Amino acid sequence: MRIKILGSAAGGAFPQWNCGCSNCSRLRQGTLRGKPRSQAQVAVSNNGSSWYLLNASPDLRTQIEATPELHPQAAIRETAIAGIVLLSGDVDAVLGLLLLREFQPLNVYATASIRRILQDNCLFNVLQRMPQQVRWNDIRPGIRFELSSPDGVTAEIVCEAIALSGNYPVYVKRDDRMQLAEDEAVLGLMVASAGGKRLLYVPSLPRLDATLVAAMEESDLLLIDGTFWADDELARTRGRGPSAREIGHLPIAGADGTLQTLARVKRPRKIYIHVNNTNLILDEDSPEYRQVREAGWEVAEDGWEFQL
Ligand SMILES: [Zn+2]
Repeated sequence: MRIKILGSAAGGAFPQWNCGCSNCSRLRQGTLRGKPRSQAQVAVSNNGSSWYLLNASPDLRTQIEATPELHPQAAIRETAIAGIVLLSGDVDAVLGLLLLREFQPLNVYATASIRRILQDNCLFNVLQRMPQQVRWNDIRPGIRFELSSPDGVTAEIVCEAIALSGNYPVYVKRDDRMQLAEDEAVLGLMVASAGGKRLLYVPSLPRLDATLVAAMEESDLLLIDGTFWADDELARTRGRGPSAREIGHLPIAGADGTLQTLARVKRPRKIYIHVNNTNLILDEDSPEYRQVREAGWEVAEDGWEFQL
């Protein structure tokens, strides 16, 4: 199974258009040792010709153009993208779906709750302008499903969603949120190759529990929420703002941050992804970057590829 990282930043990307934080300003000035990053996007394929997207980034159009494997190979209207798995209803995870209109048949895998949120929004009707354009496949945490193309060819990739006790996006009205299943809001995804190798993708990690740590220990590659270094990072950078935990992201640093709590997970290759532009680990000369590297973690970059 091939795994491509098309984008590695959190929402807003790096630099972010309306951000003048130290990281963003220094990156623009060319004085920061670090790399620009687009908003998080991962693609997987078992055969190199049929690809499945994990979430749908707002930067998807430029990410597709930067990735020859995803270009049309033959017909006038054709794509190497066969399907998309949605792990939350966050704008950063679903906006890219709208970029995949143009009457293109696609399989979308999402929980019934996420599907409902999107189908209730009339803008997403652009995906239903002809019969069988986007085919919605309901998934449930804990129930395995196999990816397949719209014409029914299996990808030989088996997935299992893990419920992560996160919240529905704030753009969903409070009354509507109450009608949705609690365990369908934010998911992690185990992705298994035909040979039984496993990627665990968790771009938003609100809380750690024993089930999730067990899943990590069974995986070969971890792509984990690296949004914030510190819990008070937004307040510290902007003068105000919610804590990392309040918006569904365990920070990296601190006694119960992921760096310390996941130190006991030894088996998989461990990579932080979905990194916010304010995060100090984006500066490769910073002590924070050195600390994560010395603890055995890597910091994902756009364009990286793995083979499992
Ligand atoms: Zn910034």
